Amino acid sequence: MEKEKLIKKLIRHGYLKSKRIIEAMREVPREIFIPDRQRGYAYEDTPLEIGHGQTISAPHMVAIMLEALQLDEDSKILEIGTGTGYHASIAAKIASRGMVYTIERIKELADKAKENFKKLGIKNVKVFIGDGSLGLPEFAPYTHIYATCSAPSVPPALIEQLGKGGKLLIPVGRVYCDLILIEKNEKMKKKNLGGCAFVPMIGKEGYNDY
Ligand code: SAM
Repeated sequence: MEKEKLIKKLIRHGYLKSKRIIEAMREVPREIFIPDRQRGYAYEDTPLEIGHGQTISAPHMVAIMLEALQLDEDSKILEIGTGTGYHASIAAKIASRGMVYTIERIKELADKAKENFKKLGIKNVKVFIGDGSLGLPEFAPYTHIYATCSAPSVPPALIEQLGKGGKLLIPVGRVYCDLILIEKNEKMKKKNLGGCAFVPMIGKEGYNDY
C-alpha cells in the first residue's frame, strides 16, 4: 500500500519516531485533501497544489513539525493555515481528548477542510476564517501553537496566547525560511530546527502581499 510505503520511508529517514504520530498518520488518508488531478501523487513525499496558490505540506514536513511539537491526548492547539485540513486532522487524532483550533484566511479552503473533517468523523477541530497572524485570543491560552505558513518574524500575539510551558513552532522568513521552536517558560527558549520552504503568512503580522 502506497501510504504504508511512505510511512516506512519517513521512519527509515528519521522523520517519524513517535508511535502516536505514526499511528495518527496511518489513520489519515492524504488523498482526500488533494484535488482530483493530483490524487495519484498523494503518497509522494512532496507538497502539492490545493488551489488558490496554496499547498498541502510534504509529509516529511508534517512529521518534523509533529515530532517537534510533541502533542499529547489533551493538547489544546492553535494552527495557523488550515489549508484543506491534512495536518490538523493528524493533530486532532493525536489530541483525541483535546481540541484543535485552526484558522485559514481563504474561505474556500476552510470550507473544504470542514468537509474533510466531517468525512473523517473528526469532531475535535474548530475552523475559523481570518488572519491567524493575530492568533485566536478568544480560546487562549494554548498548549501548542504552530503555523504552516512563514512569517517575517514571530507574531507577538502568538507568544502572548501560548500558555506557560507551551510550544510554538513557526517558519520564519519568506519562502525559504527557518523553522523556529519556542518554549515558553520563565525564560523563552528558542531553537532553530533548520531550513524549510513554506507559503507566506499574509496578514497584519505577516506579509501584506505575495
Ligand atoms: N496545514 C495545511 C495542510 O496540512 O495541508 C497546509 C496549509 S498551506 C502550506 C498554508 C496555509 O496558510 C494556506 O492555506 C494559506 O492560505 C494560509 N495562510 C496564509 N496566511 C494566513 C493567515 N494570516 N491566517 C490564516 N491562514 C493563512
